[in-house]
Amino acid sequence: MTDQFKSKVVLVTGGNSGIGQAIALAFAKAGAKVVVAARRVPAGEETVAMIEEQGGAAHFVPTDVSRAAEVKAMVAACIAEYGGLDYAVNNAGIGGTPAIRAADYEEEVWDQVMDINLKGVWLCMKYEIPEMLKRGQGAIVNMSSVFGLKGGPLVAGAAYYASKHGVIGLTKAAANEYATQGLRINAVCPGAIETPMVAEELSQNEKLTAQMTALHPMRRFGRPQEVAAVTLWLCSEGASFVTGHAHAVDGGMLI
Ligand code: NAP
Repeated sequence: MTDQFKSKVVLVTGGNSGIGQAIALAFAKAGAKVVVAARRVPAGEETVAMIEEQGGAAHFVPTDVSRAAEVKAMVAACIAEYGGLDYAVNNAGIGGTPAIRAADYEEEVWDQVMDINLKGVWLCMKYEIPEMLKRGQGAIVNMSSVFGLKGGPLVAGAAYYASKHGVIGLTKAAANEYATQGLRINAVCPGAIETPMVAEELSQNEKLTAQMTALHPMRRFGRPQEVAAVTLWLCSEGASFVTGHAHAVDGGMLI
């Protein structure tokens, strides 16, 4: 445990799995009180238990980030539980159906990816920003992807690329709008990270796993903790002059 974020409150969507869980655990280790939000209750409660076991404080709020009423209630629950909001990590996301070309998408699959990955981030900011403005300070990190900065192989579908590019546009617009009001808003763009999302997509496909590994000059996938470290830095005082940035954590993929 450190006290870098002692007495601070952080909200992490998608905090019950993969990258979001690593971020929640890292914030808790650094002294923050953590609100974990996602849909699956047992996984959310398990994450809270993990944080409490390491001596931290956490609260789970079942939330579907694509539904405005639930997002509004999520932020309200955070304020009710811990009295404010210092940092928000809008990380919840889905891969959608991979390996589908643009013309082959079903409309409902397209809508689901956009509703969770892009509209969900906007809805979270819609309710988080007013709470941060009340205190005149705050930092938000939105989870994009290297596939928000480049096109690429058919490992993710067009909706995923579009949603993650959209997250960066949204991040830049909002960062500019609130820059003089004490808010910093950045995005993180991971390469392939070892999480359930990726494991599910690659488990049956050794060739694709090898292709994905080869895309990274470091010739390996990243770890969720490596994304968490950059996310915490973007929220920290060390990043006090950093806003509207899309920070790659990609083992060199964008070189
Ligand atoms: P993961 O382990 O599958 O986690 C996804 C998280 O999002 C889960 O906690 C899930 O919880 C939550 N979620 C999904 N839909 C939701 C919804 N409608 N409302 C609320 N929560 C929802 O995947 P991950 O790899 O950690 O992904 C986390 C983020 O990183 C995503 O935005 C992903 O696009 C991004 N990313 C991942 C990689 C990678 O290689 N792993 C690379 C670049 C970017 P519930 O299912 O319980 O709701």
